Amino acid sequence: MRKDRTGEQLAPPVVLGEKKSGEEENMAEQRTSQERKSFEEFGLRPEILRAVAEKNYTTPTPIQEKAIPFVLEGKDLLGCAQTGTGKTAAFALPILHRLQETPWKGRGRRPIRTLVLTPTRELASQIAESFGAYGRHTGLRHAIVFGGVSQHPQAQALKRGIDILVATPGRLLDLMSQGLVNLRTVETFVLDEADRMLDMGFIHDIRRIIDQLPGKRQTLFFSATMPGEIKGLADSILRDPVRVAVTPVATPAEAVAQQVHFVEKMEKIALLKHLLDGPSVKNALVFTRTKHGADKVTKQLERHNVRAEAIHGNKSQNAREKALGNFKRGRTRVLVATDIAARGLDIAYLSHVINFDLPNESESYVHRIGRTGRAGASGIALSFCSFEERPFLAGIERLIRKHLPVAEGHPYRSARNPGSPTDLDPRRANGVPALSMIRADELFRPGRMDAFPGRSDGRPGRPRRESKWGAGSESRKKGNREAEHRRHAR
Ligand code: AMP
Repeated sequence: MRKDRTGEQLAPPVVLGEKKSGEEENMAEQRTSQERKSFEEFGLRPEILRAVAEKNYTTPTPIQEKAIPFVLEGKDLLGCAQTGTGKTAAFALPILHRLQETPWKGRGRRPIRTLVLTPTRELASQIAESFGAYGRHTGLRHAIVFGGVSQHPQAQALKRGIDILVATPGRLLDLMSQGLVNLRTVETFVLDEADRMLDMGFIHDIRRIIDQLPGKRQTLFFSATMPGEIKGLADSILRDPVRVAVTPVATPAEAVAQQVHFVEKMEKIALLKHLLDGPSVKNALVFTRTKHGADKVTKQLERHNVRAEAIHGNKSQNAREKALGNFKRGRTRVLVATDIAARGLDIAYLSHVINFDLPNESESYVHRIGRTGRAGASGIALSFCSFEERPFLAGIERLIRKHLPVAEGHPYRSARNPGSPTDLDPRRANGVPALSMIRADELFRPGRMDAFPGRSDGRPGRPRRESKWGAGSESRKKGNREAEHRRHAR
């Protein structure tokens, strides 16, 4: 059974809202179990099918197969799917179809009929790009609003009138407060990456935005995980939703080959250079736990003549887009990123994901390695694991329910005892250290209390997050973190 971040047991997928009649349930079953070999079978309009063909999509992905028929019917949806599964087209194609079927015939400015809320600027850009591509023969108009750039062009686009608005919460609220956005005409509302929204402190902003939407609407709710607060939000805004889940978050894409390198902290950069000196790493997305760490690794790689750039929340929007563009075009070989900056990045050709630092939240591992092996391509994910990070490795292995193969024979192999293999019992998952992995004498040796990284008191348990504001009450620190996230996303 999966767990949420607080360690709470997650119930198996359930259909929220009222139970369906037996007949409806059977129909749903038939529809989803039917193998769809082509997009034509959904009954999508020809101008949309043409765009899909131009994207060279021949077969719907599982989330598309499951979700598109219900979204076409106007049903609410609770989608549990990672990015990289084809989730965007799963909502964008039927939305475009429905907008075309009932064109707006009024005079004056077009009303906003679809709102897509997403946590980061990168995701917003990707979603808007997808609407642009899939809707290129429809004549429908879309716009994107996110922070960190001048609001003028965004306000101009809104004034011209658009059918579809893709937005991050902070800037959208700004524009709403200036009277530049009217959401009363929204027919379909998509909430993307709801769990990430919660992580980034957007939950109140989202509720304020939802308050401005008409009660009668279609809502499509996507989240990779379902912690209690997200389930509560889903319960409160969805009406009799159909629940579709593909590849649970604990299952990384099959196409990604994974390996762990036991290496001590001081040797990680040497190991990274060693791997990059070899021929197999064509390009790599390297993850560090902190922004400072990302900058440091980038500088060290540049000194080693490896073209690298960093992408994280302290970089300006332009710098982030430029770095991503350079990496996608092959001008840089390595993109060094933190979790939040990299979530949802869609990079078509990515040979390696390298976890320079292991994430302290096990689910981030799945999100990270999902940047490679996208849409059927294969990929390699390598994780560096120092002695201090072994509890994180144990958490990851329990989440994905398997042991990562260990890379042997590299020159920086840690000499420290690897400990016994992780006990894969999911009841001990979620970042709680596997004590069996650490020898008792090492654990309790004076000065070895850093066996639990992030907890200064050395007690086992979830590491506390760093706060740049130092000591203070947890709630104040949380408030500050949320404000910081909002500032970055604006
Ligand atoms: P997403 O999960 O929406 O971020 O999509 C991940 C990637 O899969 C994007 O690069 C899409 O262009 C691609 N994709 C989406 N649907 C399909 C499909 N049916 N066939 C091939 N590629 C697809």
